[in-house]
Amino acid sequence: MPDIAANIISLKKQIPPSVKLVAVSKTKPVTDILEAYRTGHRIFGENRVQEILAKKDKLPGDIEWHLIGHLQTNKVKLILPFISMIHSVDSFKLLKAIDHEAKKINRIVDCLLQFHIAEEETKFGFVKSEAVEMLESEEFIRLGSVRICGVMGMATYTDEISQVRKEFRTLSGYYKELKEKYFGQDPFFREISIGMSGDFRIAIEEGSTIVRIGSIIFGNRK
Ligand SMILES: *Cc1c(COP(=O)(O)O)cnc(C)c1O
Repeated sequence: MPDIAANIISLKKQIPPSVKLVAVSKTKPVTDILEAYRTGHRIFGENRVQEILAKKDKLPGDIEWHLIGHLQTNKVKLILPFISMIHSVDSFKLLKAIDHEAKKINRIVDCLLQFHIAEEETKFGFVKSEAVEMLESEEFIRLGSVRICGVMGMATYTDEISQVRKEFRTLSGYYKELKEKYFGQDPFFREISIGMSGDFRIAIEEGSTIVRIGSIIFGNRK
């Protein structure tokens, strides 16, 4: 059994205070989340809508929930009343659906644009030209109920550190470019969500402001 409290406390010592930790609790029971919660941690990430919904009502109301996995447009309305940040906005269609539902409940929802930076074909995300096209469109400028807070990405699953570093650097480059071109005056556009258990140190060196870490805290998943 992993000592979750000890793991999260020791992990936090390895992360600079300016970098936010999302404790990724997917597949883990609410009792595990409570162990981390009792150390004072409040930010948890899940990748499936049904799983967040099932867990959230059994846990304290001051938890900040972050969605980090692919979101289907027909499930947007289920999480919008409480979600703190959606890291995984991977299409304009999804962003418009979030905006539409957020407007209905009078919320402004914090979102990150997920970019495809890995070699694997299976990872979701924008390529840069798609994001640029979206950001320059009239339709985007009219959205009033989403706040784009930055970018998110997942590196290739590999032991090649240089490959991972290169992909993180690419994403940091996108972030800087988009900030200059489209978000210059916007204080909310400030996040680069990169770094998981296997690569968070590299991610921090490459400019991460949010790391999403599961296994180091909660142990391996089946
Ligand atoms: C599962 C997951 C993580 C955490 O992975 P670990 O390797 O367990 O730290 C981070 N980000 C996303 C998008 C995930 O799906």
